[in-house]
Amino acid sequence: MLHRDNHTCQACKGKSKDPILETHHIVSRQIGGDAPDNLLTLCQTCHEKVTKGKLKLDIQITKGFKTETFMSIVRWKLVNTLRDAGNIVNHTYGYITKFDRIALGLEKSHSTDAFVIAGGTMQKRSSLTFLIKQVRKCNRKLFKGDRSHIKNTAARFIHGFRRFDKVLWNNIECFVFGRRKTGYFDLRTLDGTKIHASGNAKELILLETANTLLIANLKRGTLLHTLKNVVSGLSLHSTEYYEGYDIN
Ligand SMILES: [Zn+2]
Repeated sequence: MLHRDNHTCQACKGKSKDPILETHHIVSRQIGGDAPDNLLTLCQTCHEKVTKGKLKLDIQITKGFKTETFMSIVRWKLVNTLRDAGNIVNHTYGYITKFDRIALGLEKSHSTDAFVIAGGTMQKRSSLTFLIKQVRKCNRKLFKGDRSHIKNTAARFIHGFRRFDKVLWNNIECFVFGRRKTGYFDLRTLDGTKIHASGNAKELILLETANTLLIANLKRGTLLHTLKNVVSGLSLHSTEYYEGYDIN
């Protein structure tokens, strides 16, 4: 949160000169939780005013804001975990990747960017590509846009499935994007490509239950295991394939 907010009070933007920064919950912790989108950096002076109702915050929490926060957390988690495992870790930037990619004559794609980010030039490339998508941990909508509390709108399980469960339908690996009580589901691959608009739940084989991070094109390799572990904060071992991570 501090990193996201540039170590600056988001109310006075540093004008108070108060060096003590605190964590403010935009809606109460009991309702809004400790997720980054409910937290805000405030200096002690402003925080006290907000708590006493003497200062009203005018802060817009946008979707892009949330994604950026998430990526920033994942990025530092990756960097720190890799470093702790004894690896040499360097930072790079998008404009450098673009320059190198064009110099190598490679087409624009996330996997090409990952390869270039990892310092790739003439190496034999892995044919495996992983698409990872973040989804809500909780599939029930808890807040409206204005953050007022609303009733849970969807059941956790419908015909035994949750949203974003990974399933096999007609021998095709896909995800449950939408569920209907009738038992006919919206099935898609992770990039959103439609597989079946109303696939019968009875014809689905559950491959993996919904996770916060969804991973497609999975051949159960160590690289994938590694990535999953990094993100869930566990240890890291293998660098079997010569590929990079383009975490955007
Ligand atoms: Zn302040």
